Amino acid sequence: MRSLIRPGDHNEQVADVQARLRALGHTIDDEAGQFGEATKSAVRTFQQEREILADGIVGPDTWTQLVEASWRLGDRTLYLKYPPMRGDDVRTLQGRLNALGFDSGREDGIFGINCDRAVREFQKEYAIAEDGIFGPMTHAALNGLRIDRPGLTVGLREEIRKDQAPGLDQALIVVDPGHGGGELGIVGSRGSVEADICWQLATRLAERLSFTGARVRFTRTEAEGPDQTTRAQRANDLGADVLISVHLNATEEQTAEGSSTFFFGGSRSGQSLAEKIQDELLALGLRDCRSHPRSYSILRETRMPAVLVEPVFISNADEEKKLEDPEYVRALADAIVRGVRRYYEESL
Ligand SMILES: [Zn+2]
Repeated sequence: MRSLIRPGDHNEQVADVQARLRALGHTIDDEAGQFGEATKSAVRTFQQEREILADGIVGPDTWTQLVEASWRLGDRTLYLKYPPMRGDDVRTLQGRLNALGFDSGREDGIFGINCDRAVREFQKEYAIAEDGIFGPMTHAALNGLRIDRPGLTVGLREEIRKDQAPGLDQALIVVDPGHGGGELGIVGSRGSVEADICWQLATRLAERLSFTGARVRFTRTEAEGPDQTTRAQRANDLGADVLISVHLNATEEQTAEGSSTFFFGGSRSGQSLAEKIQDELLALGLRDCRSHPRSYSILRETRMPAVLVEPVFISNADEEKKLEDPEYVRALADAIVRGVRRYYEESL
């Protein structure tokens, strides 16, 4: 993965970022290759549009999004391959196929098995060679159509899937402990390490969840720190019914405190789960930093309702101190489990 591109940098990579942002309609009046205020502001706006952390720095997530955002439907031939093709052209295709009633799954911009199946079904219905390849012929057929047939929306698909899903006592819950494997995450002013606390909280969470009868698996071992895509892939391969990713929040503002949960925008089930977990964390007396849609890879690339939980701020010394008490960590885990339990009970 390329390194961070940040304000103050002056190089070819910055010029590349600027060119990509301009192509997306952003105005930047910094000198070419100079990461000044205008570039930072454009990066921030772009990050907000894409629902990723708006820090004005181009890290791996932002870079991936910049590349994906540049694809328009028709720019290239789309088909199922490994690793899958990604981009806004795929997202557009998914949206249009879904609107036509061909179920291409979540509109996540990743050309997967559902998208392949939907393209083939579309080709079959419109008498085009049924090869699953979205090329000029299929594009022309799609453009010749008015998109007004009521189709199954992603939300409705999720509802149906949930109706068929097992109860919590038969569910497979995958817990994703943030960071690890030498990647520490944020270190608090009192010396607490995010990776360690995530592991501790995940372990408590797994223990409490297993009391409900659910089967629980992790996305990583204690020694590992796989990337987000690998974690998502592991949860998909396990066939998880729900994924809960555990992190801690942090900001430069040291008084910031409270709980946030995140879900993939457009996933109604993910939102419902995120809001229920958030409610239960607030019942512990935590400040409400709300539930937010985000397109983090761990949420976007997983195929089940997925929630990223940041119950407290490690950058807040008071909240960091509370985390030193194992009972407090256990209380956080219990609150998350209550949220999961309510999600299962109230969706039946
Ligand atoms: Zn984290």
